[in-house]
Amino acid sequence: MPDSQFIELKAVERLPSPEGIALKIIELSGQDNVSLEDLAHLIKADQALSAKILKFANSPLIASRRPVVATQDAVRRIGLIAVRNLILGLSLIGKYREGPCRGFDYPRYWLHSLAVAAAMGVLAARQRIIASEEAFTLGLLADIGQLALATAWPEEYARVIEEAAQCDLIARERKHFNLDRRELTRLLLADWKLPEIYCNALAHDRDPVSATDTRTAALAGQLGLARSIADWCLSPEREAMLPGLERQVKEQRFPEEQLPGLLEAIETAWLDWAKLIEVQTALPIPAAKAVQVSIEQRMPGLDIVLVDDDPLFLALMTLELSTAGHRLRTCRNGQQALKEIFANVPQLVLADWSMQPMDGLTLCRTLRQSAIGRDLYLIMLTAHNGGDHYIRAFEAGVDDYVTKPVDFNILQARIRAGQRICALQAELSKEHAELEHRSKALALANRKLEQAANTDLLTGLPNRRYGLHRLDQEFAQAQRYGRPLSVMILDLDHFKSVNDSLGHAAGDEVLKYAARIMQQALRNFDTLCRWGGEEFIAIVPDTGLAAASKLAERLRCALASENPKGLALKRLVTVSIGVAAYPAGRDVEHLLHLADQALYRAKDRGRNRVEAA
Ligand code: GH3
Ligand code: MG
Ligand code: MG
Repeated sequence: MPDSQFIELKAVERLPSPEGIALKIIELSGQDNVSLEDLAHLIKADQALSAKILKFANSPLIASRRPVVATQDAVRRIGLIAVRNLILGLSLIGKYREGPCRGFDYPRYWLHSLAVAAAMGVLAARQRIIASEEAFTLGLLADIGQLALATAWPEEYARVIEEAAQCDLIARERKHFNLDRRELTRLLLADWKLPEIYCNALAHDRDPVSATDTRTAALAGQLGLARSIADWCLSPEREAMLPGLERQVKEQRFPEEQLPGLLEAIETAWLDWAKLIEVQTALPIPAAKAVQVSIEQRMPGLDIVLVDDDPLFLALMTLELSTAGHRLRTCRNGQQALKEIFANVPQLVLADWSMQPMDGLTLCRTLRQSAIGRDLYLIMLTAHNGGDHYIRAFEAGVDDYVTKPVDFNILQARIRAGQRICALQAELSKEHAELEHRSKALALANRKLEQAANTDLLTGLPNRRYGLHRLDQEFAQAQRYGRPLSVMILDLDHFKSVNDSLGHAAGDEVLKYAARIMQQALRNFDTLCRWGGEEFIAIVPDTGLAAASKLAERLRCALASENPKGLALKRLVTVSIGVAAYPAGRDVEHLLHLADQALYRAKDRGRNRVEAA
């Protein structure tokens, strides 16, 4: 690949790169005056990273001395440069655990890289070409070019993977991208300023003798052996690979009889790291089984109700399933199971088909009709086989179907599938509940906003906006049903003088007081609004002019009957009121106009009085 192409890819951030604390650490370690203490301090900011560094410092790859518990000691033991490189590798795992390239098995990629890393670490401890801690990182990054291809060209690389059988994938890479993962790996390692000998060894790991100096050749050989051992780790056919490994071990000048011990040490270190780094996988290979188990152990076991009329089968299944971490309750027939399930709802039901007095199909149908059993995951276990039976089982509502004799691995896989669906379902309903909660909060906020938009801040009464809207509604009702409707316009008398003599704040208090008294004097179904300034409007439905005038008089008296309490104002607050009614008022505008005219008359005739239109 031309350098410019690499620089371009890097510039558009299409290549794997560390981020966060890891990036800071890598940058910091490039500075001349950086101390172990500075570095340890930064690492401690990332607890997970700190744990991994400690674990590494205490791993058999490094430790032979007393255990370290402080990050700083761990950094000192591993060494500045090695720590930096290790963090680089670890941070990439964290960032590229999953990715957009279909067909690229990210977990498998990391499991393999970890296996190369573990193998390099163990081999380096015996062969001392480079230090173990450095060898581990070299192994971890030895195939980073492949991840880079998947990262830079996710769609194209997915197609290349699809086209190629695994054996000639590297050739395909070269044909398609004009470079392969090996070249890209070396470019990246050089860019990350890893030691030159890493890149040189990587260039010769298929043919160590072609290397120009003996140290590079030895490291290249070690890398080649580590790759083969990693392949062995992940292979479903380990036995067949042993002769090849024996040959390679001999070429590397290890005594042949050391191979079993070597493999064991490497596998232990590998599985340990896989667990620590939490690479999730469902690889159907023996080597990964231990990893798989360790991951499944972290998936909480399920509450299972197992229903079967065969006591031996019940005992066997209970043993197998509880060993796998599930909690079992057993029942001998459908009836018993219903009781058990309703008493304490499980997460999953495994039910036999033929039982007395209630069989599995009936159990399933009954469950599906109940609120509790509707969402239960139910797997049918049965010796019945064939198309018609499947259809009947699924029609009854089973989620899955496993035939007897039960292959425990298949059952376990189906249970896991069920568990995933249950987890998804739980997540969905949680999301749904959250959404509902949010939409309720939103509705509440909207209501509050609407209320605020319709309310007068000073008096707490509905405002003019609301009053106009309400008046339109009431007028339409009165018209439609031929019922009377009255309005009053109320204006406080000589209010300006309150402001002038006592100040605006005292005026506000008087407004609040008057609003309260007038509101109390009205009936529940009347609406008093602040129309503006010291002017109010009362909407009085189902009431003709005469009755409304009486009501207005009551209101006027309520205000004028006694001196206000608790106010600076030491005289009566009075109000003048103009009343008008539909149908004399032909429309809302006319109605208001009539009321306004009446009010004007009330003012004119001496104030503190009611006038009807
Ligand atoms: P009239 O009896 O003829 O109605 O005389 P008035 O003084 O009540 O009427 P005018 O329209 O001359 O004055 C109304 C005053 O009400 C003027 C204004 O300063 C005052 N005002 C209007 N809104 C508010 C308010 O929100 N707070 C206070 N403190 N005063 C207000
Ligand atoms: Mg006034
Ligand atoms: Mg006025």
